[in-house]
Amino acid sequence: MATQIHHFHTTSISSLSSKTPSSKPKPYFRSLTISASKSNTPSIAGRKLRVAVIGGGPAGSSAAEALAAGGIETFLFERNPPSVAKPCGGAIPLCMLDEFNIPRDLIDRHVTRMRIFSPSNIAVDFGRTLKQHEFIAMLRREVLDSFLRSRAQSAGANLIAGLVTNLDLPTSPTSPYVVHYTTNNTSRRTLAVDVVIGADGANSRVAKSIGAGSYACAIAFQERIELPDEKMRYYENLAEMYVGNDVSPDFYAWVFPKCDHVAVGTGTVRQKQDIKSYQRAIRERVSPKINGGKVIKVEAHPIPEHPRPIRVRGRVALVGDAAGYVTKCSGEGIYFAAKSGRMCGNGVVKASEGGEKMIDECDLRREYLKEWDAKYVSTFRFLDLLQRVFYGSNACREALVELCGDEYVQRMTFESYLYKKLADGDRWEDVKMVMNTMGSLMRSKILGKKMESLIL
Ligand SMILES: Cc1cc2nc3c(=O)[nH]c(=O)nc-3n(C[C@H](O)[C@H](O)[C@H](O)COP(=O)(O)OP(=O)(O)OC[C@H]3O[C@@H](n4cnc5c(N)ncnc54)[C@H](O)[C@@H]3O)c2cc1C
Repeated sequence: MATQIHHFHTTSISSLSSKTPSSKPKPYFRSLTISASKSNTPSIAGRKLRVAVIGGGPAGSSAAEALAAGGIETFLFERNPPSVAKPCGGAIPLCMLDEFNIPRDLIDRHVTRMRIFSPSNIAVDFGRTLKQHEFIAMLRREVLDSFLRSRAQSAGANLIAGLVTNLDLPTSPTSPYVVHYTTNNTSRRTLAVDVVIGADGANSRVAKSIGAGSYACAIAFQERIELPDEKMRYYENLAEMYVGNDVSPDFYAWVFPKCDHVAVGTGTVRQKQDIKSYQRAIRERVSPKINGGKVIKVEAHPIPEHPRPIRVRGRVALVGDAAGYVTKCSGEGIYFAAKSGRMCGNGVVKASEGGEKMIDECDLRREYLKEWDAKYVSTFRFLDLLQRVFYGSNACREALVELCGDEYVQRMTFESYLYKKLADGDRWEDVKMVMNTMGSLMRSKILGKKMESLIL
């Protein structure tokens, strides 16, 4: 076994780009020795901890940047060239720009107006409470992802343009994981590492390799439509959301402005086979505004509905969509992907003392999972509840849109979205909001036993 792993390592190193730290590799497997320390974690004296990050989306690049900056020997695998965009609306909250130092010139649109349409097409403007400097940033994913990937490289990560096909698990706490990958669709290579971060999205192969269990997925469908100039002007700083059984039985449909086109899409968990009819319905609802437009791209992709049963196993951690971090209700995942990647990367740096010692499953649980759950589990649960209450039927959706007209609701929603922390409420206004919610639901004749069972 030892000889075999050594061979893997030698092959992989010779296959790396010129950014590979050393062209004459040290024998990887032999340098692992069991330490006599109390924790019984093996030492890695004489070299740095080696981590493979699979997937160069926001989760993977953020993980790789944190790892490389923290002194870890980092390998970031991405199968797609920079020009290929992950199907996505590309909306990110204001706080992400500062937290992740994202240059303002990457932003295509500054959305300051949101309009939500009820099943009966009642429109409510959402955004009156925004302050002058506040907006939702719309970016193209190919632009954002390329930027984050390059930054990880600048921090010292080795970017490997390749498709990871398989992961061999170690046979002991000291033996490496072996990443199998192909480059240019032909040559097969391998790389032996101590730790793996699975940031390979909703169809994660890393998750499958470690038996992390599956999750329910929504399917999202989106068309990019180029509009005549005067129609594009209408969407200059406006994003629209549409709710109703016609456009989705359990989610919302959207029109998001991009650099020179709009993204029109919808999603569903329950009726995936009908996704194309929901897409036709959203196009019908917006038809006066998009008539004359030209479809330039059609895309579809799964969106996880909840975290996987297992997110850490052995020395492997899942982050972003691979872990299942997309909020219900809004379908937001970019920020949470970047955040979880960075949190996991920092956790590995801390536990390995800057790449000087081996880590184990307990370290990943303590430094990453525990921190993540403490920070975000309640947000995810709350949005799950909201989705079940408000997206369940057309009557509920009418109530939702009515509520969105309330200024206090708007302020609380936007502040929570833009800054990713619960906005400071006003007790009296909170009571009023609950009463208004009840009122809206009662007017929609849906405050019955079903509602009570959802809330309790
Ligand atoms: C239609 C649609 C619209 C959306 N709109 C929004 C929105 O407006 N705002 C928002 O916040 N979220 C949105 N989301 C969710 C968001 O796109 C995801 O939550 C986010 O992309 C997750 O980032 P990630 O890095 O975890 O995974 P991904 O972005 O999926 O990145 C995974 C990366 O891994 C690479 N990869 C996968 N497998 C391999 C492999 N075997 N080898 C090498 N590389 C591999 C992929 O090429 C990809 O680059 C939307 C999702 C969809 C489907």
